[in-house]
Amino acid sequence: MSLKENGMMFILSSPSGVGKTTLTKKLSANNKNFVISVSHTTRKSRPNEIDGKDYHFVDESKFNLLIKSKNFFEYAKIFNNYYGTLKQPVIDLLSQGKDVLFDIDWQGTQQLKKIKDLKLVTFFILPPNKKVLKERLLTRHEGQEKMIIERMNKFTQELSHWNEYNYVVVNDDLEECYNKILNIIISEKKGKKEIQDMKEIKSRIDKLMQ
Ligand code: 5GP
Repeated sequence: MSLKENGMMFILSSPSGVGKTTLTKKLSANNKNFVISVSHTTRKSRPNEIDGKDYHFVDESKFNLLIKSKNFFEYAKIFNNYYGTLKQPVIDLLSQGKDVLFDIDWQGTQQLKKIKDLKLVTFFILPPNKKVLKERLLTRHEGQEKMIIERMNKFTQELSHWNEYNYVVVNDDLEECYNKILNIIISEKKGKKEIQDMKEIKSRIDKLMQ
């Protein structure tokens, strides 16, 4: 089936703790046509997470079965857990004319970019600086120092994929970042690309890499 006439796919990726989950939820809450793709994962659910809404929480044998039966559009191993997007629910949403939002990492984005005929727009979200990122991780994973160190260590590696994305947006002020992404989505829906200041972005990346 051709997906050319259907909804569009918008990926938001970022190093852990930058706020892309909040942004995706806000985009879908405020825009009726946006639906979030619910991933499968083998990681344990966090206290505030709901099975089937935030993720489909499955064990490794179920995940492996889905890999073997070629049900995934993409999947990746991140922090010792598997994460993946099923093909069929996404195809169904797109064929209903819905725009699908993806909160996935650079590995999944690379896989989706290789698939022909997908109308895909990709965003990489940056934290304003490393200090703010660490503070956000401390709030989210209070008392879990090991996890915070692990996620900070992975930061530079994840950041190095920024130039594989169509757009780079800074999440300093949530409302501002949200509006920027929404405006780009609206333009892209009309077939228009937004121009970004690559020099400014590159200098931000250089600072974050230090
Ligand atoms: P968390 O465990 O904090 O919810 O997510 C960890 C990372 O996994 C995040 O970067 C998130 O974007 C990514 N992720 C979540 N679902 C998927 C998925 O289906 N595929 C891929 N490739 N990454 C995912």
